[in-house]
Amino acid sequence: MNNTAQQSLLEHYVKKILAAPVYELAVRTPLQPAPALSLTLGNQILLKREDLQPTFSFKIRGAYNKLVNLSEEQKARGVITASAGNHAQGVALAARELGIEATIVMPATTPELKVGGVRSRGAEARLHGESFPFALEQALVLAEQTGKTFVSPFDDPDVIAGQGTVAMEILRQHQGALDAIFVPVGGGGLIAGIAAYVKYLRPEVRIIGVESEHSACLQAALQADTRVALPAVGTFADGVAVAQIGEYGFEVCMFCVDEVLTVSNDELCAAIKDIYDDTRSITEPSGALAVAGIKKYVGKTGVKGRTLVAIDSGANINFDSLRYVAERAMSSAVA
Ligand SMILES: *Cc1c(COP(=O)(O)O)cnc(C)c1O
Repeated sequence: MNNTAQQSLLEHYVKKILAAPVYELAVRTPLQPAPALSLTLGNQILLKREDLQPTFSFKIRGAYNKLVNLSEEQKARGVITASAGNHAQGVALAARELGIEATIVMPATTPELKVGGVRSRGAEARLHGESFPFALEQALVLAEQTGKTFVSPFDDPDVIAGQGTVAMEILRQHQGALDAIFVPVGGGGLIAGIAAYVKYLRPEVRIIGVESEHSACLQAALQADTRVALPAVGTFADGVAVAQIGEYGFEVCMFCVDEVLTVSNDELCAAIKDIYDDTRSITEPSGALAVAGIKKYVGKTGVKGRTLVAIDSGANINFDSLRYVAERAMSSAVA
């Protein structure tokens, strides 16, 4: 893609982001200082609190923007998706708000809590297959058979534009110097929306992707210069356990992402504690990726006095998992 094509792709996304009516359901979340982390790291750290959305993650933005942009005929036929997590809650809530019938295929192993979360929002939850790829396959078959529209969790321009509204808020909330925005990466919808908006308006702001070392599909794709599928992914950070970066997202990331870092599960647990210490709120493992990435970046580069933003992307963690997180956070602090 040449320069002109790149600029027009970004402009296309910026227009879609500015027009996305996400605030009928999503909220403008605070961009909040993290004083203890800032002191420890010698940089001003700001947290974009997407854990405070109605479904406890930013996914509601993309899901709502996708559903609201369907034709009347598509709305009448209903939507279908596959997800075990935050995207399912987003689609269920957006569909209820818009009066659209939603079917969500979840792996048979999905915790009852999450199945209940979907059903209580009025969507039909179908359990199918051992893990996500089987549920996805089934959802695609059902979409074909029923004429319902399949809603991807990340690989869709309307979803990417919905997620991009996070960046629009950040640039309005913080108009001074801004050095970098750290973004958690699963299938790449969030980082693509954020990068497109920021690189069009403030190209000097660095966009740094942060992946779990057990699902680093963007890093692998950038290295190979093509979308490779990872042979296996770890699911501790379940919100980002994706084997292949989305096609639409990769098109933007190829020229808009400055750097990608990977972090370990123990680094995620330590970051969950850091966020807790500064906000008294609990983050899910994927939600803490960006803070873990900032710590790694500052350790590696030794930068001081910069303003660094972390997207705190979600809070959907089972209460039972907290003991494990606390234990790992403690042992990595000692190490
Ligand atoms: C989905 C999700 C991500 C990653 O978003 P992508 O658009 O898939 O890259 C990060 N954090 C949380 C909490 C999520 O639910």
